[in-house]
Amino acid sequence: MIKYETVIGLEIHAQLKTESKMFCSCDNYSVDAKPNENTCPICLGMPGTLPVPNKKAIEWVYLLGLALNGKIAEKFNFERKNYFYPDLPKAYQITSSTKPPVIGGRVEIETEGVIQNIRINHIHLEEDAGKLIHPKLGEYSLVDLNRAGTPLLEIVTEPDMRAPREARIFMQDLRSILRYLSISDANMEQGNLRCDANISLRPVGQKELGTKVEIKNINSFKMIERAIEYEVERQMELLGENKKVVQETRGWDESKGKTLGQRSKEEANDYRYFPEPDIPPLEPYSGKEIDFDEIKAWLPELQKEKSQRFINEYNLSTQDAEILTSDLELSRYFEQTLEELPDITKNDEIKKQKAKKVSNWIISEVLAKLNLAGISISDCKVNHKDLAELLDKADHGEISGKIAKEIFAEMFETGKNSEQIIKAKGLSQISDTGAVKVMITEVIKENQGPVSDFKAGKEKAFGYLIGQVMAKSRGQANPQVVNEILKDLLDKE
Ligand SMILES: [Zn+2]
Repeated sequence: MIKYETVIGLEIHAQLKTESKMFCSCDNYSVDAKPNENTCPICLGMPGTLPVPNKKAIEWVYLLGLALNGKIAEKFNFERKNYFYPDLPKAYQITSSTKPPVIGGRVEIETEGVIQNIRINHIHLEEDAGKLIHPKLGEYSLVDLNRAGTPLLEIVTEPDMRAPREARIFMQDLRSILRYLSISDANMEQGNLRCDANISLRPVGQKELGTKVEIKNINSFKMIERAIEYEVERQMELLGENKKVVQETRGWDESKGKTLGQRSKEEANDYRYFPEPDIPPLEPYSGKEIDFDEIKAWLPELQKEKSQRFINEYNLSTQDAEILTSDLELSRYFEQTLEELPDITKNDEIKKQKAKKVSNWIISEVLAKLNLAGISISDCKVNHKDLAELLDKADHGEISGKIAKEIFAEMFETGKNSEQIIKAKGLSQISDTGAVKVMITEVIKENQGPVSDFKAGKEKAFGYLIGQVMAKSRGQANPQVVNEILKDLLDKE
């Protein structure tokens, strides 16, 4: 039996979060807008209008290109891709795939401990189309052109992935890079990150690619893996029965859990590409328009570098460092909270100990609550200053660890700070030796049995007595103070 190898390449679309659209000054943020509110004669495709490219969008393509180690092309050209569809009023899309701004590049992914380079073929810039809305009861469709003209990056990979899982990991890593660069929200569920997958099989050892099938409009991470897995099995079955795989475009049907044929190669459009006559070609190195030194200065520390730094600088475990850097905002929250602690010194050991505490708190308390509420760290009501203040109070014995967690729960719900909650509820830990002494004296009186046991050398009885004092104080006595005074008083018994 012939053994087959899976070959996967991806084409990814990511909407850029620039303030204005790609070729006009319309607002690029339309989440709260009424249909067709953010439109103008340019993005409505009125005759006689002139597109003006958005400089920020061009700079951001170069920024991504540099982050992925791609080559900046000497010259890049906008061109027209002609097709008719109701969501595209101009009847052409302005794109740049023939002479793209960035050529080559790579993303390093890790699957089960194996590092692999996924090569990028090129990155180009284009504009998004509008949206069609199909009312359930009407025999008509509505057109919303708020999205028409949104700057869109297309990232095309080489066919370097060999398993559905690798495609998912690649997409997750790319999402992290886009978010760390702050150029796209890169949210698949909200449609600002989408991908098409090209899948083919070939006998192991053969260089030439097999017939490819394209799955269009994958819009969740779960779907990437499932849709590709299904498609690989489908093609495997065909080849096993000596049937041919037809080159076609297929769509994923979530309810049926399978891919369905949409159009074959014969039906494919001829887009009649030609250079956009209204926008001159851009030679980024020739003029002063694009300042690459400035763009290089924008390059941030990316997730993998940050995670490695957290391991080295704070002695965190790989797992904790990865969790904390999985979201740029979360990694900032961690470092800001740590810096806010009053006694952070340059002493590495103290810094590492505190970092471990802050990391544990964020992972076990903050993240758990965020996940439960289904919100992200940017919507968290507890800011880093308030969290640092709470952790500092627990650290100095002003409140116990248990009480600190209760206070945090309330801070998370109400947005109040720890001081306000402690005052309102009288939760401050009892460190006042006078008050503790009174409680201990009572406990000794009430527990003469264990007291004699302790006197007779039974160490366990001491722990029991501590427990009784803590219970009497409803957990609010400072354990260290209880310990010292109890020892003192038992000696005098
Ligand atoms: Zn416009």
